[in-house]
Amino acid sequence: MVLDIKGLHISFGKLHVLNDISISIKKGEKVVIIGPSGSGKSTLLRCINRLENPDAGSIIFEGNDLTEKNCDLDKARQKIGMVFQSFNLFPHLTVLENITLAPVTLGIQTKEEAASDAKKLLERVGLSEKAECYPSVLSGGQKQRIAIVRTLAMKPDVILFDEPTSALDPEMAVEVLEVIKSLASDGMTMIVVTHEMGFAREVADRVIFMDGGMIMEEGTPEKIFLHPESDRLKQFLDSVL
Ligand code: ADP
Ligand code: MG
Repeated sequence: MVLDIKGLHISFGKLHVLNDISISIKKGEKVVIIGPSGSGKSTLLRCINRLENPDAGSIIFEGNDLTEKNCDLDKARQKIGMVFQSFNLFPHLTVLENITLAPVTLGIQTKEEAASDAKKLLERVGLSEKAECYPSVLSGGQKQRIAIVRTLAMKPDVILFDEPTSALDPEMAVEVLEVIKSLASDGMTMIVVTHEMGFAREVADRVIFMDGGMIMEEGTPEKIFLHPESDRLKQFLDSVL
């Protein structure tokens, strides 16, 4: 088990945003989370790497409970990659500098090692020629592929994707989804929040449907897409498919 989340709760004021969420994820497993806007999907991902502080529950990552006070959060975060809808590249750094910043600053690699790895990763996503560019000259799809490479540069054990293609035109979404699919087929453990149902069907080992801060239904893509049980999931699928 890479990640074992149990009984997670978080409220913002009176709003109970996560209500008793439990999810276990094995090494190499690909979990896709779907659900309407506001259902708590981003909050769940943000809790996992403790950008949010849950009110109750445990998050066991590789044997350590990330909700415990004396837990080494920095160390855990190095192994939990996160890719956001909005890319979040540093505009004042080149592509290469964006990718090598964390491993070099954290003392994990020398500048030379990090640059050499970064170049291999850039080649993998078809962006070798962009190493010296600044993010502003890149398309959205290129920026997101760089953001994924930046995450990979830390050699994470799990990657959390929060709607990685929602800000992209369909064509650019395809090129980003291809990169994520290739990571999936290499065995990367991942949680992907997405509205790309085709991707979910193709890649997910398990699909989780969230609504109102709860897991309403979960199962194989076939179960969720072809044999949904709850009316809420049926309604949701009607609205997105
Ligand atoms: P989703 O990603 O499924 O669209 P979110 O997790 O972003 O949903 O948000 C779930 C609910 O929690 C929303 O109503 C949102 O407004 C609220 N929310 C999220 N983060 C905060 C916060 N830091 N403070 C207050 N409310 C928040
Ligand atoms: Mg969200």
